[in-house]
This record gives sequence, C-alpha cells and structure tokens, in this order.
Amino acid sequence: MTEFRSIAAATGEPHGDAFAVNTPADVAEACAKAAAAFDTYRAIDLESRAKFLERIADEIMALGEPLLEAYLTESGLPRARSEGERGRTCGQLRMFADVVRKGQFLQMRIDPALPDRAPPRPDLRLRMIPVGPVAVFGASNFPLAFSTAGGDTASALAAGCPVVVKGHPAHPITGSLIAQAISKAVADSGLPEGVFQHLVGPSNDLGAALVQDPNIMAVGFTGSRAGGLALTRLAQAREVPIPVYAEMSAINPVVILPEALKARGAALGEAFVGSLCMGAGQFCTNPGLVVTVEGDGLDDFVQAAATGVSGAKPQTMLTTGIADAYAKGVEKLAGAPGIEEVARGEAGSATTGGAVLFQTTAEKFLADKALGEEVFGSSSVIVRCKDEAELKTLLEGLEGQLTATIHMDDADEGAAAKILPTLERKVGRILVNGWPTGVEVCHAMVHGGPFPSTTDARTTSVGSLAIDRYLRPVSYQNMPQSLLAPELRDAAFSDGAPRLVDGKLTLN
Ligand code: NAP
Repeated sequence: MTEFRSIAAATGEPHGDAFAVNTPADVAEACAKAAAAFDTYRAIDLESRAKFLERIADEIMALGEPLLEAYLTESGLPRARSEGERGRTCGQLRMFADVVRKGQFLQMRIDPALPDRAPPRPDLRLRMIPVGPVAVFGASNFPLAFSTAGGDTASALAAGCPVVVKGHPAHPITGSLIAQAISKAVADSGLPEGVFQHLVGPSNDLGAALVQDPNIMAVGFTGSRAGGLALTRLAQAREVPIPVYAEMSAINPVVILPEALKARGAALGEAFVGSLCMGAGQFCTNPGLVVTVEGDGLDDFVQAAATGVSGAKPQTMLTTGIADAYAKGVEKLAGAPGIEEVARGEAGSATTGGAVLFQTTAEKFLADKALGEEVFGSSSVIVRCKDEAELKTLLEGLEGQLTATIHMDDADEGAAAKILPTLERKVGRILVNGWPTGVEVCHAMVHGGPFPSTTDARTTSVGSLAIDRYLRPVSYQNMPQSLLAPELRDAAFSDGAPRLVDGKLTLN
C-alpha cells in the first residue's frame, strides 16, 4: 500500500485526501535527522527550551476549528471532549515548560573535592542528560493528549530529546495538523528540523522499523498489550537494546467496602455507570471490575447499575477495528462458564458499542484468567466476595493495574487499611470515593503500574515525573569549570535550581 485515507469513526467510510504511506527508508532518514539534531537541541538553554514548548501550545491553539473538526470526525468523540483534550494537551506542554525552567529535573548533585581527606575525594558533579531520539506511538483513544503532541512527546522534548512520532492510523488528519503546528514551532524557534518528525501509515512495518532503528534510544507507547509487547520484544532483540515505556491494559478494580455499600449502594451503582460509559468506555482507566462483599446494599448497587446499563445507548467507537474487538471481547465474556449477564444496553453495530454488565463470584473469577482480561469499551464485571478475607484473596490474584478505587465510609477504615498494602503492590494510583476515569496532569500523578498495565512500573506516562523516562545521569569528575554545563558551575549555584551539595538539599 502506498497511500491510505482517514476513516470517519461514525460511518466507517474514508474521508479527506489520501496520505502517502511512509516507508522504512523514510524511517531511517527521520531517525538519522533526529540523531543529527540531538546535540544542538539539548545544548539550548533551558529558557529557550521552555519557550519552545509554550510555542507548540500556542501553535496548536492557532489551528482553531479545523483541528477540532478533524478530531470529531476521526474519533467520534463529543465536542466537549475535543475542547477539553486540546486544553489538556496545551496545559501539559506548559507544565513541562515550567518544569524545564525550574531545573529540578536535572537532579544536580555536587560533591566538592576534599583534598585533605585520606584518601582525597575528587570533585564530583552529576546531572541528568537526555537519552537521545525517542520514538512515540500515538494512542487511538486520546487523539490529542496521548498522541502526536501528547504526554510522551511533551516529556521527551522537555527532557531534550528529539522525537519521531508514529502517528496513529485512526486519526491521520488530526495528527498531521498537530505535526504541522509542532514543526512550525521548531522552525520559528530556530531549531533543526530533526527535533520533531511525524510518520504515518497503517501497517506494523513502520512502527517495527522505527523501534529497530539504531538512532532511537527509547520508546513511548500507549495501546494494546499485544502491540506494546511486540514492540518491547523488538527493542530488546536489537544489537543495542532500548527501553520501551508501554502503557497497555488494565481493568482498574473498584472496591466497594461494606459500610459504603450499605449507606449508598444505589447511588454508587448509578455513578459507576456514568464512569463506565463515558467516552464509550474507551479509557485505559475504565472501571472494568467492581469488587464487593455480600451484604446490605449490594443488591441495590447491582440493581441501579443494571438499570443504568440497560438504558445506555450505543456510542460510536474510535475505529471499526476497536468496535469489532469490543464486540468479540463481550461475547467471549458472555460465553465464559461461571459468569452471569446482569444487563445489556441497546446493541452496538459495526461502528458503535453498547454497554454490558456481568457478575460472578470471587472463586469463579480467580479460576478463569479470561475474566480478568481488559475488554476495551463499556463492559464491566461485578465480583461478589463471600467476606473480607475472600476480597483480599481476590485482590492478591489480580494482575498489575493502573488504578484501584476504594469506596468507603469512616467505619470501613479498618477494612481499607487491610487491603492497602496489597493495592500498593498491584497498582500505580489508589483513589478513594471517586472514579478512575479522569487523570489529572500534575506533579503527583502516576499513570503507570506493574505489568501488564505498563512495561515499567517505576515511572508514569502522565504528570511531570514522566520526564524521568527520557533522562540518564552523567557524573563529571574533576572537570574544569569552563567545560562543565553552565548549571553545574559554581557561579550557577545562586540560580535557584535545587542541588544536593555534599548531601544537603540547597535551594538558594
Ligand atoms: P494498538 O493496536 O496497540 O496500536 C497502537 C499503535 O501501535 C499503532 O500505531 C500500531 O500501528 C502500533 N502497533 C501495534 N502493534 C504493533 C506491532 N506488532 N508492530 C509495530 N507496531 C504496532 O492499539 P489501538 O489501535 O489503539 O487499539 C487496539 C486495541 O488496543 C483496543 O481494542 C484496546 O484493546 C487496546 N487499547 C488499550 C488502551 C489502553 O489505554 N489500555 C488504549 C488504546 C487501545 P499500526 O496500527 O499501524 O500497526
């Protein structure tokens, strides 16, 4: 295939002009350009890097209505979401500009020489430097905030890494408009073209070639478990293996503790359906599992949730492929022994997905791994545990997750304390009396977690800590001041950036 067209989510029909499919030769050229731009880009001062990130945000806003129109047609998501996601994308870029300016991400450590000590200590100075060109795979479910200019791109550029994006084939027009905005910011900031590049095509070959290119030093990915693992294997089989930060699949358990269930079972059931059906359930934090204990309020919860799901209208899904995968995932669940269908909304079609709710017991859930697999869409399973001991056993049996939610009253505090250590081992974010959909972009956010929610639980793909994925430490021993990076020189100590000097945090 040499060209392909964007597909409108609502109709499944092609629309807009054809895109030329990038070839493996284009990948090699883009990666070589990125490598050539690396030293120039990472050497610019932090203020200029911060201004560049802000300029990208300005250019995205300047795209105006055509960007939102492309987003709406390609994703099938509602207007308010398009505006919210654009705001989040630009806010994310501005947050990283602030991170760059403050310099904390450099994690500077200075151990001054101790010439009179026996043995003498040399002068040692450490800072983080960017790892090199980063490959980013845009996600289908956030055409703006997790795609071409999403969190992976923003954090890699903030770290000082050139970026080569493999645009998601579900939104090539949106992605190309964003790429034009970034490239304009690159040119207007006087930076080399190789700082940002965008490749498009609907085949696995392009992404595989990108991950295998020797100039690529790290990968950011959001998508399916199969895709994330395939790319990780390719990255590990390279002559020089590289890290793949893949955010993949999660079912995000919601634990409703007995007193909360007794006090407000019906209200929780209603609110749960709101979270389950938002955006046709196409969130990595979608609540695909509800864990309860038999007792007062459980039937009210199930009844209210069933009423909400039965009344839910089918919603347009991101692609016909995702709608098909959702339908197959639901039927696989429905056919599993030991699961009972509680409610089903109006049926979906080739382009839409309808909501479905199942229930089972802890014993049956633990006996069949398939019941714990992500079904990407508005499908969820309620697990009824006999008692709190079984609830803990069930949580111990779960795979790694992005989030866990606890619904609790004051009187549930003892029960919550008992499951907290398990949840800490299993997930990246634990929230109380809320719903997991909705991920704040801030400094204390973790959007990550143990496998299979990600390939590396030590980090996050949302929030300012995401920058750490694309940095590595370098130590300079007895380096003359004139050769040190400006921020490591003695004269810079009063610039306000934090440093650990002889083990003591110095803020000046
Ligand atoms: P995907 O199939 O994993 O694709 C994501 C990106 O990775 C695409 O650009 C795709 O390129 C590339 N890719 C996938 N497998 C590859 C391989 N073996 N080699 C090279 N490149 C590869 O995800 P998707 O298209 O967004 O959605 C499909 C399914 O992923 C959904 O039904 C859902 O189950 C899951 N998903 C999960 C999340 C989450 O946050 N947990 C988010 C989105 C999707 P090509 O398409 O060009 O090959």
